[in-house]
Amino acid sequence: MHIETLLAHTGCLDDPETGAIVAPIHLSTTFHRNDDGTYPRGFIYSRDNNPTRNLFEQTLALIEGGEDCTSFSSGMAATHAIIQALAPGSHVIIPDDVYHGLTNLADNMFGNWGISFDRAKMTNLDDIAQRITPQTQLIWLETPSNPMLQIADIRSITQLAKKHGVYVVVDSTWTTPLLQKPLDLGADLVIHSVTKYLAGHSDVLGGAVVARTHTPLSEAIRDIQKSCGAVMDPFSAWLTMRGMRSLSSRLKTQCQNAHAVAQFLAGHPLVEQVHYPGLSNHPGHSIAKLQMSHFGAMLSFQVIGKARRAFSVAAQTKIFQRATSLGGTESLIEHRASIEPESSQTPENLLRLSIGLEYVNDLLQDLDSALKD
Ligand SMILES: *Cc1c(COP(=O)(O)O)cnc(C)c1O
Repeated sequence: MHIETLLAHTGCLDDPETGAIVAPIHLSTTFHRNDDGTYPRGFIYSRDNNPTRNLFEQTLALIEGGEDCTSFSSGMAATHAIIQALAPGSHVIIPDDVYHGLTNLADNMFGNWGISFDRAKMTNLDDIAQRITPQTQLIWLETPSNPMLQIADIRSITQLAKKHGVYVVVDSTWTTPLLQKPLDLGADLVIHSVTKYLAGHSDVLGGAVVARTHTPLSEAIRDIQKSCGAVMDPFSAWLTMRGMRSLSSRLKTQCQNAHAVAQFLAGHPLVEQVHYPGLSNHPGHSIAKLQMSHFGAMLSFQVIGKARRAFSVAAQTKIFQRATSLGGTESLIEHRASIEPESSQTPENLLRLSIGLEYVNDLLQDLDSALKD
């Protein structure tokens, strides 16, 4: 079945007892045990296993084309689980432009755990190759990157990693399985903050890791999920499945809107630069065209001027809401450098946009009047 069909039926079933079309939410934390001590239906306790969470995990694994999916209480819990699953002494290569939550874990959390990190320019294969050491266990990719929308060539990087026996994980939060399928391109793991496009309505926190095949790493992630307990709760799993049913039509409109916004800003006299891989002059455009089915609904741009000017543009928008996060139906605008740590290299005049489902001319007008004010 096509991925769009699978998505449209997420969380649906023919319930043998009631005939219900939509799967119920199982809130029960515990399950009946037989008099011989066995658990006839396979469920013991909801931290280990929950029917609603299992249904979400099975669906996402199928949609990504992976053998296993583990879900978590947030994207960061999922991120943390992947790194925690590595042996002490491991070395991880992360992008120099990446979601700042990962940089925070690298700088402030995992030093004590004996894991070291190195930042590479993921647009440059030689730069990555030079940083691989005998201790390197994992290369972390995020493409398009946050917030500079750089494009990493997933296939070439996974080929390089394989030569050295290194795992590759791709953060697919921005692309969803509809726009990019990293496991098909050779990646070992895909991670999602389901908080964003999969749930899609700015009202759920969740994360998930999908493994192409069962490996010692994926088994360790499963053990961490069950033992450490940062599991996705049943209601969040159910809401996420509800969101996924409309993902393909939401994302199509959002991508179209984003492309129009990028083109509009690229031609605007008060804009210095636009970062969107769908623009033909974007340095990653040709790779993006090969590995993505659309260019996504996230973009960033630099205004002519300094941080103050960027703040004042964001202050003037009426339809774009000033908030962090992304992937909801409403468009958001954010001054990114001021939410990132001080070490951030994000330009001070950069604004990041998450494009929603509004009528596109309303979005263009909103940006135009905010820029002219
Ligand atoms: C939001 C986000 C995360 C973190 O996910 P949470 O659900 O907020 O914990 C990780 N990666 C990317 C690309 C994100 O946008």
